[in-house]
Amino acid sequence: MQPCEPTNTPEVVDQEALHQKYLAERDKRLRRDGQRQYVETGDDFAEFYEADPHTPVTPRTPIDGDIEVVILGGGFSGLIAAHRLQQAGITDFRIVELGGDFGGVWYWNRYPGIQIDSDAYCYLPLLEETGYLPKEKFSHGDECYEHAQRVGRHLGAYEKALFHTLIRSLEWDEEIQRWRIATNRGDTIRARFVIMCQGPYNRPKLPGIPGISDFRGHTIHTARWDFDYTGGNLHGGLDRIADKRIAVIGTGSSGVQAIPHLARGAKHLTVFQRTPSYVFERSDSPTDPEWAASLKPGWREERQRNFHNATFAFYSPGEQDWICDAWTEVSRNLAARLNATDGWGALADPVKFAEMHEAEDYRVAERIRQRVDSVVTDPKTAEVLKPYFRILCKRPVFNDEYLPTFNRPNVTLVDVSDAKGVERITERGVVANGIEYEVDCIVFASGFEITSSLDRQLAIQPLAGREGRSLYDHWDKGFRTLHGIMSHGFPNYFSTGFIQGGVTASTTKMFEQQADHIAYIIAAAKTRGATVVEPTAEAEENWIRTIRENRIDNTRFVGECTPGYYNSEGETNGRFFLGEPYGPGFYALEELLQNWRDAGDLAGLDLTS
Ligand code: NAP
Repeated sequence: MQPCEPTNTPEVVDQEALHQKYLAERDKRLRRDGQRQYVETGDDFAEFYEADPHTPVTPRTPIDGDIEVVILGGGFSGLIAAHRLQQAGITDFRIVELGGDFGGVWYWNRYPGIQIDSDAYCYLPLLEETGYLPKEKFSHGDECYEHAQRVGRHLGAYEKALFHTLIRSLEWDEEIQRWRIATNRGDTIRARFVIMCQGPYNRPKLPGIPGISDFRGHTIHTARWDFDYTGGNLHGGLDRIADKRIAVIGTGSSGVQAIPHLARGAKHLTVFQRTPSYVFERSDSPTDPEWAASLKPGWREERQRNFHNATFAFYSPGEQDWICDAWTEVSRNLAARLNATDGWGALADPVKFAEMHEAEDYRVAERIRQRVDSVVTDPKTAEVLKPYFRILCKRPVFNDEYLPTFNRPNVTLVDVSDAKGVERITERGVVANGIEYEVDCIVFASGFEITSSLDRQLAIQPLAGREGRSLYDHWDKGFRTLHGIMSHGFPNYFSTGFIQGGVTASTTKMFEQQADHIAYIIAAAKTRGATVVEPTAEAEENWIRTIRENRIDNTRFVGECTPGYYNSEGETNGRFFLGEPYGPGFYALEELLQNWRDAGDLAGLDLTS
């Protein structure tokens, strides 16, 4: 595999005019109800979360017992935690997972067209350990799921898994110094340690459109696809909907991937679009056997660093882009411009550098808008499909089939941006801009509880530490942690995800960093004969200060973005989807954590037995 060349981007003559257009498009979509516009998949909508369309639930006897470590979640994050625990010599653990197998998002999300939107060589974990190499740069959903199963087998984790099990409550019991865990299967588990590996996309959400319960036809959420209704599989071939009129609400990553398959299979497809996505070329390529044969141990680490530099830092002079996709296009183009103008000195001035980066972003965005014109034949439809916001305000998508779908005679695109979304759902269909579209099935490609409040995301009640204090209350005014993983008052409880830690281009790499640290702390506590480990209030306070003092100010960027889950639907003081990252960067945090571990004194932690 070769490093790649910069792309040809048009000059943006009047960047300020475009900037104003971006702001106007944002304002058009801002809603007062922000995150509250979505309804939870609980109560009347619980089947969108708890029901498993993929695997029948096997009855089992409830468990009543003590376990050393419970890992909540059997996706990649949970599997990585299991791997690191094993490496640290801890084998008494259980993985509790709502799905019927390992895989997390890759277990649940099987909608037609599902394919990873990020470099698989960086993203799929434990490649070197399992001796596996992805078949192509962007793995399809089944390859990711199969890899999770492969990792599960490699770790011998199947014997430790409790599938089809949903943790309902988590309560610290001071007397027994354990977490009491209740599940939907009637289990009573007492765990010494708990590691939360729920991942950001664990819980689907639905748009709170008036009348959503009135619809008499069929409904599907992309994260719980119903192939009995549509026919086909995650590669397409939806052969049971030839006589069906289908509506899709949502044109983010999931919607964009499913829409071409629905259009091919359905009698008619109506796509309700509030905000268009940036749709980049996918240009997937099979894994080059020569490249595969040339890989030396540590290759993945090197590749991940290169990806990180393009996305969360910047290249050094002479460094090339080995990732070569939409995530790296702006940086690749900027590096080429700096090479051509001998302009690397600009890096010394962060303000100047940010301006150059922004200008490059505008050029790439313009290229993608021109791509819409070159593919979509009807100019009005093409206009509606053009996004106007900074590229990373929303997740960019990669697809070669999506835009041509709108040239099909059986596809209608309905722009619902002026009304800030679909107006109403009736018994018969969907109302937008005053028109009722009668349909047989509505597909909700409406995403997940990602930046909504933590109680919505986790759906665990109560989640209570010492003296019954709720973690939701503890974090109510912002995260409070040491190293992004532990909180005062919540002994032996470890969080993972976008909280107050390091952020890098591949989420799994972040999970690895967190799991390394968690496994070290649990093992170190056990070696010292401690049964309880907890950060002091002072250590937590210090970490919050460290995070806030080193914060990279992205207020302008986030505030100017069109609403979406990245910026908590534009809510002021809302959660940013990357949490509160450690400003000096992922690799600086790696060094800090390593030094902390090397010191061996568990500074900031209270240990008791
Ligand atoms: P999403 O990005 O949150 O998209 C939700 C969609 O629903 C948006 O287009 C939203 O419009 C629309 N919507 C919500 N309420 C609406 C209303 N009342 N009327 C009309 N439209 C409405 O969800 P997602 O596509 O499932 O993706 C979520 C995340 O999962 C992605 O960003 C990505 O991180 C991950 N994911 C990754 C992959 C991959 O790697 N291949 C695939 C799928 C998902 P607005 O944009 O206007 O809010």
